[in-house]
Amino acid sequence: MTRVVIIGAGQAGRRCAEALRERDAEATIILLGEEPHPPYDRPPLSKAVLLGTDPGNGLFVRAPEFYAEKRIDLRLNTRAAAIDVAARQVVTEAGERIGWDQLVLATGATARRLRIPGADDPRVMTLRTMADAEALKARLATRPRLAVVGGGLIGLEVAASARQLGCEVHVLEAADRLMARCVTPAISDRFAALHRDKGVALHLGCALTAIEPADGALLLQAGEARIAADLVVVGIGGVPNTALAEAAGIAVQDGILTDAQGRTGIPGIYAAGEVARLPHAFWDARPMRLEAWQVAQNQPVAVARAIAGEDAPYDEIPWHWTDQFHWNLQVLGDPDPAYRLVERAEGEKLTAIALDDQGRARGAVLINNGRDATPCRRLIAGGKALDAAALADIATPLRNFL
Ligand SMILES: Cc1cc2nc3c(=O)[nH]c(=O)nc-3n(C[C@H](O)[C@H](O)[C@H](O)COP(=O)(O)OP(=O)(O)OC[C@H]3O[C@@H](n4cnc5c(N)ncnc54)[C@H](O)[C@@H]3O)c2cc1C
Repeated sequence: MTRVVIIGAGQAGRRCAEALRERDAEATIILLGEEPHPPYDRPPLSKAVLLGTDPGNGLFVRAPEFYAEKRIDLRLNTRAAAIDVAARQVVTEAGERIGWDQLVLATGATARRLRIPGADDPRVMTLRTMADAEALKARLATRPRLAVVGGGLIGLEVAASARQLGCEVHVLEAADRLMARCVTPAISDRFAALHRDKGVALHLGCALTAIEPADGALLLQAGEARIAADLVVVGIGGVPNTALAEAAGIAVQDGILTDAQGRTGIPGIYAAGEVARLPHAFWDARPMRLEAWQVAQNQPVAVARAIAGEDAPYDEIPWHWTDQFHWNLQVLGDPDPAYRLVERAEGEKLTAIALDDQGRARGAVLINNGRDATPCRRLIAGGKALDAAALADIATPLRNFL
């Protein structure tokens, strides 16, 4: 009987455990999580949890009894401190040794911290865990002046939630536009207009250099600019939790290096979810580490299949979304600014399709137009040359181009 230990009881760890059980009724599956909660998905943390609205089953996804029913040995408050590769054992922080035949590292990421003077003030927070979200929610209830450092997805979601809760909100972004890593300048501009319209003060091209306590509040310094705030949330990306892997001699490069199915260089050890950097078919097998719900949901299934002896590389067309105010943004594939963007707009709804120099769809950006996600995914997968002028005609349904 195979014994599989999964380190990290987040979304990827849970999905891997479930997918393993679907394939092997007998395996012993042990899921180790350092957090006190059963596995949860993180997207609601910056949205429904802060707003106090119902995240439905988008948060815990599985009922607490699910794990016992599936005979998944879920051990919470259990931090893995080391991997003994020779003995094939995980050593927990409490000193327990847990043996494995197959080991999955699903350790995710930690919020990147600012490295500037004043960043260690307790009023400077990050948002990654349920505990972070609950602490932030409690602070937002006092309607502080909030400064968000980072105009990326999480920073802007926090800004939107805080603004909806009635806070004064400033966003400081070092780049000259919002969400520069994932959307084109035209989409950045639309989101900037949305945030400004809702009363968020945007400070673009604004690199924070220091945070100083002043008159009971905090003074943020960025060049000549001075911004006063009572609370700062830093949203400048995540750092993959690779320390365990590195100490065990597993190759690491901003993520744990794996093949397309999550196998590391050490037989029997795999990486799942956001911590893995794998050769991605969409980018001609370039190693990528993607910070998205989709990857945490589906790449661990490919890992479970590898453990079950199936050949099934992870090769989905990348997809992620964000919700800010009443706008839902979905990004598919690679809408690189270098591509030609064909826009199909209808009021506040937009589908923008990125065509390469041969007219093939490589990416798409949808604003409040989720129904176009499936045809866009198919257009990208099809790889057919498209007529840009015809595609821009909103009267022609996208399915006509498939
Ligand atoms: C606030 C927020 C909002 C997001 N919103 C969106 C969104 O709208 N759309 C989207 O596509 N994506 C979104 N994401 C991204 C998505 O949620 C992540 O990519 C996903 O959570 C990654 O899952 P994971 O299981 O790989 O890693 P994680 O969720 O980080 O889980 C890893 C788990 O492993 C545990 N762990 C780490 N080291 C150890 C150890 N040594 N021993 C035991 N346990 C350990 C950690 O405590 C953690 O619980 C969001 C992320 C955040 C933080």
